[in-house]
Amino acid sequence: MNHDPKKSGRPPDNHDGDNKQPRTILMLIVAALIFTIFINSVYEGIANAQYQEITYDQFTELLSQDQLAEVEFQSDRILILTKEEAAKNAREQTIFYTGLIPNLDLNGLQQDLDGHDVQYSGHIVEQASPILSFIVSWVLPIAVMYLLFSLLMRTMSKRMGGGIGGIGQSNAKVYMEKQTGVTFQDVAGQDEAKESLQEIIDFLHNPQKYADIGAKLPKGALLVGSPGTGKTLLAKAVAGEANVPFFSISGSGFVEMFVGVGASRVRDLFQQAAKMAPAIIFIDEIDAIGKTRDTRLGGNDEREQTLNQLLAEMDGFDPSKGVIVLAATNRPEVLDKALLRPGRFDRRIIVDRPNLSGRYQTLLVHTRNIKLAEDVDLHKIAAATAGAVGADLANLVNEAALRAVRLGRQAVNQQDLLVSFETVIAGTEKKGTVLTETEKRIVAYHEVGHALVAALEKHSQPVSKITIVPHTSGALGYTMQMPEEEKYLNSKQELETELDTLVGGRAAEQLVFGIQTTGAANDIERATDLARNMVTQYGMSDQFGLMALTTVANEYLDGRAMMNCADTTAALADQEVKTLLQQSYDRARKLLGEHRALLDEIALFLLQKETITGDELMAFVNADKQTLPPAGEAGGEAAGPSAGGTAGEAPEPPAAP
Ligand code: ADP
Ligand code: ZN
Repeated sequence: MNHDPKKSGRPPDNHDGDNKQPRTILMLIVAALIFTIFINSVYEGIANAQYQEITYDQFTELLSQDQLAEVEFQSDRILILTKEEAAKNAREQTIFYTGLIPNLDLNGLQQDLDGHDVQYSGHIVEQASPILSFIVSWVLPIAVMYLLFSLLMRTMSKRMGGGIGGIGQSNAKVYMEKQTGVTFQDVAGQDEAKESLQEIIDFLHNPQKYADIGAKLPKGALLVGSPGTGKTLLAKAVAGEANVPFFSISGSGFVEMFVGVGASRVRDLFQQAAKMAPAIIFIDEIDAIGKTRDTRLGGNDEREQTLNQLLAEMDGFDPSKGVIVLAATNRPEVLDKALLRPGRFDRRIIVDRPNLSGRYQTLLVHTRNIKLAEDVDLHKIAAATAGAVGADLANLVNEAALRAVRLGRQAVNQQDLLVSFETVIAGTEKKGTVLTETEKRIVAYHEVGHALVAALEKHSQPVSKITIVPHTSGALGYTMQMPEEEKYLNSKQELETELDTLVGGRAAEQLVFGIQTTGAANDIERATDLARNMVTQYGMSDQFGLMALTTVANEYLDGRAMMNCADTTAALADQEVKTLLQQSYDRARKLLGEHRALLDEIALFLLQKETITGDELMAFVNADKQTLPPAGEAGGEAAGPSAGGTAGEAPEPPAAP
């Protein structure tokens, strides 16, 4: 039961890894130098030959001995190629030369040369002209260096966006849409968020109405929610509904290598928006700049300056102009208090993970333009995707459409959706992973252990699927339980049943093979969390009764509870947690022991088929004479509130030694 669809959406801390630039420059310079040397040596290769000076006498002697092949008259000397050298290949030739002596009788010399049949007009050496040589050894390298340098400057100024001192005026990171084309109709569910944003839209339509009464106008709102819940989409929809331009930038985009760049970008952004007002400015991942100013490590100048600039701009602009700043974060608790003061981001709009009907509507929105086959039941898919966010669902629908195309069908059917649900939520099926026969048997018994406990106990969620096909997420198999309807309250009995189900896997391993495997690690972690919550938060233990032992630090998102009691009490609470887990384990073990034949039967069936449905499971259970009433009658039930009602499944991390 471990696939948590929430992906950790923590923006990367950009500025930390950014001092690569000086190294890049250095590398470019070295490259240019190497290139220059290379070019020069190549050029020397072209201008090959070695030269050797001889006297004029030697020249005439060679001529009279008929040893010359070719001469070339240059302005200050005569190049001489002997027949011997001419026979060699060009690179190895030695070219002789001699100075032109003054008052040389050129006519006489020419006749002599003619007499010995020496050519004197040709080019002895494929001599590069001095101009060419100059170009090759100087102009070219400089041009190349210049090119590299300007390339570098361009990349750098692009990264600096708003630019300092006019180096780069391009605001590459600011992203502006005159019309987003997104409306509230494109955002499924999120009714409360929409309602809060409605006022902002009204204000953008009609700022005067608010000004007339003297109402203080909103400047900013903070959208708080997990990644993929649709914060960006909502912000765009606000702009779309109000029909105003949408400026967006990501918080991490502000923070760059150079101190001051972020601040100048903020200034720039607000200037641009003011020109186009009324407008929406959307700052994604505001926690990247808005983190609490931390002086412990000497602080971060750049981030602090950027943040200060942002605060100054927000305080400075005239709200009646109609610029509204929306910011998104999934970690509101790390934000600097200064950001949250009145007149800044004083409104907080929670963008929750969608509930059942929210998920259904999201699926509807995303299947609007998709051809669906008759058998598609989006309610079922919505029910199976508890815990998924809008982005997951959008992804799921798209995967399903891709699969339908791949299989050459005209419309998306339910099977496509179910399969892509597994791809998106549980990772792709890895048919190739090889488990040994023994491992497979253990996994099968483990999974059936979960499923059978759930099926045999009252108050449990119906099992919808058991599989021992490994998934990329690392699970060797899993048991999926599907709540029949969304539930917000769980009784103590229901939670106890969930505990029994969670430890059922280990109980089966122990019962059948007498061993304990690493496969149960995730189950144990979840069971322990649940038991701890029952003791410390839900007031469900005999020992502490109604006493809360923890406080929740951040009530909005995945808040971690912190123990808030004496150390001795905490130790007692640990004892109580252990007792709860032990009781559950004993119950599960007893139950499985009593139905050992059934356990074997189903495990064998699972080993053969690798994946079985909840119905197949229930058929076995119902056929078994001694069974209690099937769990289906107990009514649906969601996981504990802390688990957010995720589709329960019991996966195993790969077995480690
Ligand atoms: P966030 O900014 O919260 O990380 P996004 O707004 O970028 O999430 O959402 C990503 C995508 O997920 C959207 O483009 C949209 O396709 C889909 N999505 C998320 N929430 C919803 C929703 N409530 N209704 C419809 N689509 C949604
Ligand atoms: Zn398990």
